[in-house]
Amino acid sequence: MTRGELFLISAPSGAGKNSLMDALGAHLGHERLAFVVSHTTRPPRAGERDGVDYHFVDDARFEEMVRADRFLEWARVYDHRYGTAAAEVLPRLAQGIDVVHDLDVQGAARLRLRMPEAHSIFVLPPSYAELRRRLEGRGADEAGARARRLALSLSEIECYRDYEYVIVNSDLQLAAGTLAAIIVEKRHRRARMQEVAEAIADDFRTALGGAR
Ligand code: 5GP
Repeated sequence: MTRGELFLISAPSGAGKNSLMDALGAHLGHERLAFVVSHTTRPPRAGERDGVDYHFVDDARFEEMVRADRFLEWARVYDHRYGTAAAEVLPRLAQGIDVVHDLDVQGAARLRLRMPEAHSIFVLPPSYAELRRRLEGRGADEAGARARRLALSLSEIECYRDYEYVIVNSDLQLAAGTLAAIIVEKRHRRARMQEVAEAIADDFRTALGGAR
C-alpha cells in the first residue's frame, strides 16, 4: 500500500482557512482524504460539534494525553491548548489516505521536525483591511480577543517563509482549487502511482500472454 501524505495548513486567524478546508472537500471529494480533528481545551463556540470540529477536552484530560505521549505535537495558542493526536494521523497515512491538518505556526514547525516529509502550505489574507473585516464579521470572539489576534497577525504572517507553498485567499473557490491542485500533484507522482500503473501493466502482460 502506498502511503498517504500529510498536508499542514497554517494561516492567521481570520484568513479564511476553515471555509477553505470545507471548499477543499468539494473540490477533491472525500475519498482518500481526511481532515485531522484536533484536541483542544478551548470551549466550543456556538454551532461547533464535539468530535467534528474538535475533540473538546478539559485540562486534566489534555494533560493525561500529553503524559501518555499521545500527541505528535501540541501548542498553547492564545489561552488554550491544541494538539494533534497521533491516532488522527498515522493510521490514515498507513492506509494510503491523504491527511490535511490545519494548525498554528508553532505546531506546524514541530510537526515538520518530526515528519519532514509533510508538505506545508501557508494561507495569507489579501490584506490587513480584509483580515480585519473578516474577523469583525465573525462575531464569535469578543472585541478584546479580536484585537489581540490582529496584533499578532503580522508575526504570524511573517512565518510564511517557513512554508513550501503560499496561497492568497482572495477568492475562496480559486484558493480551494489551488490547494486541491497541490494535493493532486502529489497524488500523481510516479512513486504514488506505481501500484496502479503496475496493475495496468499486469493486465497488459496477461492479455498479451507470451507475446513479449
Ligand atoms: P480556533 O480556536 O480559532 O479554532 O483555532 C486557533 C488556532 O489553533 C488556529 O491557528 C488553529 O490552526 C490552531 N490549531 C487547531 N488545531 C491545532 C492543533 O492540533 N495543533 C496546533 N498546534 N494548533 C492547532
